[in-house]
Order: sequence, then C-alpha cells, then structure tokens
Amino acid sequence: MYLSVVFNLPLNQSFTYRTMEGETGLLLGKRVEVYLGNRRTTGFVIAESESLDEGCAIDPKNIKEIRRIIDKEAVFGPDHIDLARWISSFYLCSVGEALSAIIPSGRRETGGVPVGIDDSDFSPVRHALSEEQIAAIDTITGESRPKSVYLWGVTGSGKTEVFLQAAEHILNQGKDILYLVPEIALTHQVVEAVVNRFGTQAAVLHSGLSGSKKLGEWMRILRGDARIVIGARSAVFAPVKNLGLIIIDEEHDGSYKSGTTPRYHARTVAMRRATVTGATLVMGSATPSLEAWYQIRSGALVSCRLTKRLAGGAEPRLSVVDLSNSNGPLSPELIEAIRTAKQSGRQTILFLNRRGFTHFYRCKTCGYELMCKNCSVPLTLHRSISVMKCHYCGWQVPPPGSCPSCGSLDTAYAGFGTEFVEEEVRKTFPDYTIVRIDTDSMSEAGKDGVKDTIEHFREGTTDILLGTQMVAKGLNFPGVRLVGIALADTGLHMPDFRAAERTFSLITQVAGRAGRFFPDGEVIIQTWNPKSPAIEYARRGDIEGFYTHELSQRAELGFPPFSRLLRLVFRSKDKKIAEESASAAAALLQPLLGEQDILLGPSECPLSIISGNFRHQLILKGEKLSTLIAAVRSFRDGYKSPANLYTEIDVDPQSLL
Ligand code: ADP
Ligand code: ZN
Ligand code: ZN
Repeated sequence: MYLSVVFNLPLNQSFTYRTMEGETGLLLGKRVEVYLGNRRTTGFVIAESESLDEGCAIDPKNIKEIRRIIDKEAVFGPDHIDLARWISSFYLCSVGEALSAIIPSGRRETGGVPVGIDDSDFSPVRHALSEEQIAAIDTITGESRPKSVYLWGVTGSGKTEVFLQAAEHILNQGKDILYLVPEIALTHQVVEAVVNRFGTQAAVLHSGLSGSKKLGEWMRILRGDARIVIGARSAVFAPVKNLGLIIIDEEHDGSYKSGTTPRYHARTVAMRRATVTGATLVMGSATPSLEAWYQIRSGALVSCRLTKRLAGGAEPRLSVVDLSNSNGPLSPELIEAIRTAKQSGRQTILFLNRRGFTHFYRCKTCGYELMCKNCSVPLTLHRSISVMKCHYCGWQVPPPGSCPSCGSLDTAYAGFGTEFVEEEVRKTFPDYTIVRIDTDSMSEAGKDGVKDTIEHFREGTTDILLGTQMVAKGLNFPGVRLVGIALADTGLHMPDFRAAERTFSLITQVAGRAGRFFPDGEVIIQTWNPKSPAIEYARRGDIEGFYTHELSQRAELGFPPFSRLLRLVFRSKDKKIAEESASAAAALLQPLLGEQDILLGPSECPLSIISGNFRHQLILKGEKLSTLIAAVRSFRDGYKSPANLYTEIDVDPQSLL
C-alpha cells in the first residue's frame, strides 16, 4: 500500500510512503510516524492506494516505509481533508498545517470528561420566553430558516436562553450542534448551562484540557456519542456527524481569530462548514463586529433583536469622569459610588484592562525609559513579586534603584495597572472585602481558585471584584450595583484601525454587568479622553450612533468593511533581513495585484521587535479578497525565502500591531 502523507510544516505538497510489511491498509485518517529526510516526525495520511499514480516519477525502491501507526481508529475523515484543503487555499497554509490545527494533538484517547455540574444561574427550569425570544427561536429553527441569522440583543436580554432552546429544537430534528464561546475560562456559566441541559449528549472542548483528553472528547463526537459540542475557537472543527446549527456567541470577540498558522477566523470557518453542510449559522452579541453590523444594515444578514432585559434589570445609568481632575486612579465620584453600593448592601465590579502595578519607568533627568531587552515594549512593574516584566516575552529584571543610564534617583513610574488599583482600593476602603482576578492572580490561585472567587462574589460575600477582561464577559452577578471602569482608554491609542471599535465594545460589554437584576445599576467610566467618540457613544448607550460614525470613518479610509486586507509580516533575528525581505516582497507583489488593489508599506510593525525578532510588514488592501489571495499565492509559490526569515501570512488580519 502507498500512502500520501502531509506534515505540520509549510510544505505545499504531500509525500509518498509505503505501509509496513504485512500491514493491510485502511490508514486513511490516521496519524503515522515517518522519516522526513532524517527527522522522525508525525504525519497525516490523506490518501492510500494499491499502486503509485501513473506518471509518478519516484522509483518504488526509493519509497520509505512508515515507522509506526499512531492511531487505532481514524481520527479524521474525508470531510476534514476537504476542509483542510479549503483552509489551505483560503489562508495560504499547507494542508498539513491546516489538519494540524483541526485535529487535537493528543496521543492516547481516554474516556470523555464529564464537566462538574454546579448550581448556576441557568437552572434547568425554563423561563417563560419573551415574545422577542420566541420570534428569534422561530426564525432560527423554522421551516424556511435563513442560512445565517444575527441575534442582536442588549446585554442581559436572554440570548443564551434563545441559543439553548434553538439548540434543543435542532437536536430534536435529529441534527447536531456546534456552540462556540470566546474563552472557556471566562464563560463557564454558559458551559454549565449547556451541560446541565444536555447532559451526556454534550461534549466540551477547551484549551484547559490536555491533548489526550481533548482527543478523547473528539473521538466521542466522531463516534456520534456527543451531539452538541461547546468550546472555544477550535471547536469549530469538531467532527459532529450531521451538522444542523452553528452558534457563535459573542461574535465580535477577538479570540475567534487564531494568532498562529493557519490564522483562521472561527466565524469564516463556520460559514464554510454551514455552506457545505446546509447548516444554519447563528451569531449573537450586544456589540456586533462592524463587519457584521454592516451586513445586518444592508440586509445581507437576517437579524433578530432582543431589546429588553428580562431578569428584572434595566439599562444602567452611565457617567464619564475625566481623570485629569483627580490624582490617582480613584476619582471622588468613583469612591462615592463604591461607598453607596456597599451601604445599600450591594456590590461593585472594577475593571481595568491592564495588569501589573505600573506600566512605565522613566528617568526624569535623562529621559531614559526601561524597555524589554527582546521587545520594543516598556516593562511592567509587578510589585508583589518585585520584578519588572515584559508582557510579550516574559523577560524580567529587578526594579532599578536608580536610572540604569545616568544613575539619577529622580525617576518615576507611571500608568497604573490592576495591582495598583487594588492597593488604592484597600487603602481607601480598609474594611471592605476585595478580590482581584487577572492572569497573574489566576496563576497563583489556579483555575479552580478563580472559579471559587467568582462563586463567592456571586453569593455576595465579597464587596468588590477587581479584574481585567476576565470580569468583563458573560458573567451574571445578581448583587452588582456598580461597575467602575478604572481607565477606559487603555486600547484607544493603539495604532490599529479597530482601536475605537474595540474600546466601544469593551465599555459596553463591561457596563452590561450592571443592572442585570435590579433597575438601579450604575456605571462610571474614567478616562483621559472624555470627548473621544468611542467613549461618548458608549456613555450614551448609543450603539447604532457609534456604528454609523465608525462606518463613515472606515469608508473615508477605505478600511474593512469597505475593503479586505491581507497582511504579510517578515520577521527575523537579523534586522537587515527582515527589512530587505519586506522591500523585495513589495517589489515582487506589486505587479501581481489588481488595478484597484493597494499595497501599504513596507514598514516597521508598530510592535517592531518581539522576542528578539525584527518585524516588518506589508498590508494589501483590495475590494476582493480573492485577488489578494491569488497574488500572494503566486508570490509565495515562486518565493525563495532567505534563511533566518519567517513570513507570516494573515488573511483578514484582526490586529495590525
Ligand atoms: P445575554 O446573553 O443576552 O447577555 P443572558 O442570557 O445572560 O443575557 O440572560 C440574562 C438573564 O436573564 C439570565 O439571568 C437569564 O436567566 C434571564 N432570562 C433569560 N430569559 C428569561 C426570560 N424569558 N424570563 C426571565 N428571565 C430570563
Ligand atoms: Zn537617567
Ligand atoms: Zn519582551
């Protein structure tokens, strides 16, 4: 038997091997260990045949035998190979790289992993649905359902219940379901709701599972034992048998885009799977991505609206506080509101999207700034462990006693983080209980510690919950009266055209944690830029107003959704190689582009050095992605990459940093 094998390497071809003596075949869909050159490596068997293709130039005597078969049962099938080929052509990676993203990397499969079932806010009791919810479920599951539906509902309007009941309908129609959520650690309430409601029919795929546990769940789905799969980005590949519905919760979330090759977007892959299988795609959010909103507005995407909070809450009262009038991260308004919340027996969430103590160290005498040795970013002070740390590569040094450059003692720290805010809050409210949740506190407390912390807060035993993104999303806390955004502008000045959209969406999502169960919710937004449109529209709760404004900005600059982008990053330890490769590539690409297409760059990336790699980029902008992809494909196929250069190809990039 001859096998076609592909690898998790940027090689745009398959390799032929022969099976071991006495092995009778049926290796399609299994992983094997083989020698590629003189390196032993894992490959995926994507075809097998009795004889070599006619016209095959290889002498059968030179074909190597495989060394070992890894899987007892096939772990993927023809559908996955088709999907991998599609990813390979759309995202410009190899078929092997695509398969490697699709299939869990675990080895031995173990049994399924039942998830701990806790009491949660989503009890098995079903609410009497609101009219808007009923209409949405009808649209999603009805006879003449559209191919895709957008469930656009304000925070707290009961989107989850719509998803769950729609899923139930589809399961009853004999079809299977994928339910995507941003990051499992942040959304365990939804995961629990799914597991509570669907029991052993449900499978959970999340990044916290070991490879072999993941593979165990994967095999359970492949055998048809689990019919509703909930998970983060890569769950979009789950091998359900008879796909009927794909749900993408919090569609706007950035974590749906992969940061490594293939740089796929789960929404795009979901659309592809829905098209191939005839399944319905439902996306939902309170703050749709601008791309989605543009499609809703133009009528290309059917939308259902949920306009009311159902659990007794109401839209909170929002106010903006200009931080330039206060010293320190707690304005008098915020202090007063925290006190009021406590006095009325209620709780506060404080949000800041920046961990650590302070973010800049500067010498006032010579202007020296302490930067990472490996990256072009300033170091963050983590005072509790007394280090200055790089958030990109992890490099760290002890905090300097005096300026490392001129020895002056006149130095200053600036830019507060969660650790700093925690200290200020403890000083201001010595007898309140306060907990902090961010990736630093999580690595100390562990995942279960964080879950306990969240449970305690829900039960009302904690006064203030302070944290980053982790407190921003998907959580339902009955006792919360106040949400304080310690600094709303952390992402506002990023050199990225989506900075305003992200800021707006984050404020709206965080604000949505207030007033879910009582009508007296309050939100205080602290900022250095009270006039910026993202902040002003968020304060007014004017979602459509913001989108209309932002859309006109995008139209003016010709950025998505008015164009498509494709980004190439050339990175190398050698500055010259990175720089020259970008210029050379620009010269090669220019003639391959369509007349209307635009090539931006070459230029240094805003994050010009990461982990000692110099980064230069080209951004291609055009009306049609297909012409950009075709240009980059023919560039890539003829490209002789210098040694020590790595080229990242990012189709529909989400970040331009
Ligand atoms: P969203 O995902 O839209 O932000 P959730 O799905 O978290 O909103 O729902 C908010 C709250 O409303 C939850 O506590 C949920 O149990 C409750 N809820 C959902 N549907 C109903 C309903 N029909 N009647 C009463 N409460 C409901
Ligand atoms: Zn100095
Ligand atoms: Zn670094």
